[in-house]
Amino acid sequence: MNSVFVYCEIEEGVVADVSLELLTKGRTLANKLGVKLEAIALGYGLNEIGKQVFPYGVDVLWVGDDKKLSPYTTLPHTAVLVNLFKEEKPQIAFMGASSIGRDLGPRVSSALHSGLTADCTSLEIGDYDDPKNQKTYHNLLYQIRPAFGGNIVATIVNPECRPQMATVREGVMKKEIYNPDHQGEIKKIDVARYVNETDFIVKVIERHMEKSKVNLKAAPIIVAGGYGVGSKENFKLLYELAEVLGGEVGASRAAVDAGFCEHERQIGQTGTTVRPKLYIACGISGQIQHTAGMEESAMVIAINTDVNAPINKFADYVITGDLNVIIPKMIQYYKKNSK
Ligand code: FAD
Repeated sequence: MNSVFVYCEIEEGVVADVSLELLTKGRTLANKLGVKLEAIALGYGLNEIGKQVFPYGVDVLWVGDDKKLSPYTTLPHTAVLVNLFKEEKPQIAFMGASSIGRDLGPRVSSALHSGLTADCTSLEIGDYDDPKNQKTYHNLLYQIRPAFGGNIVATIVNPECRPQMATVREGVMKKEIYNPDHQGEIKKIDVARYVNETDFIVKVIERHMEKSKVNLKAAPIIVAGGYGVGSKENFKLLYELAEVLGGEVGASRAAVDAGFCEHERQIGQTGTTVRPKLYIACGISGQIQHTAGMEESAMVIAINTDVNAPINKFADYVITGDLNVIIPKMIQYYKKNSK
């Protein structure tokens, strides 16, 4: 049985969180399959990468250290991955559903005719009974994600082609150190053997990094508003509550689409995935595309006029009523009772 591979994204010498999250999941799956977990790092000046990834349980770290591989461009990274996968034949390969992973993943999978499931929300190992040829496939990767506009949660399997490839968005999987002292083996990739001069046809001339001021991922408390908030003006109430609680404001897509809130605050399948200590959902119905981005919150309070709102199923506390009445009371009582 061959290994589980994870492509690690690197920015200024630091491995991206999404890659560490995939290594954490990859380690669990590799243990289940009884195989190695292997990581791939492509870039320049990668001497310290081992220290960053080995604690996540990486057995083999493939390093392609070459000035031409940094910053990321599509063709050389694709060429290295395709050739490495042809030689090493991983049974599973993961990458982040980031702008890099979304660029790289489909190219690699189409070159290898392997298929790819994008934006998985869960990954497991299991068997599959194929009714067509009455065959049971063992230890396949269950690639689980919402499908058909979120009306179903689909489990996708790929019995025939390898690697079984999937992308996962940042924040969906947990990042957890496996063993701080875990040591793996470093294997150097002979980059020149895998890439051609024509792969360097695109040159990055200048880079400009825009940093968002909103950091939903780091917020311990999120006050999220939905279409039920009613207006941009009413969202001010949520900002006020977030301020007294020391939290951030998030939003559903319907609230963002209606112009009540900026897109960078959107939570859910096509927004950010968060796991705060407390999530206060105000006027949010709780459609699957929203809950996919917040269901791992430690505690959820739902404020909704509809007693049957689906969000209530996720909530530890349900407050049924008008948010315009409830939130000012929350602000008032919190201010009164906190020191
Ligand atoms: P609604 O469903 O309209 O719910 C409004 C709620 O407010 C209702 O429950 C109502 O009872 C309540 N309400 C009304 N007035 C009040 C009041 N005064 N006080 C208290 N409660 C009140 N959605 C996301 O959020 N994030 C995503 O990332 C996302 N990605 C998507 C991706 C795809 C491919 C698709 C198809 C959809 C996606 N959606 C996403 C949209 C999602 O399906 C829902 O349409 C959206 O989450 C609904 O937002 P909402 O709950 O704010 O609005």
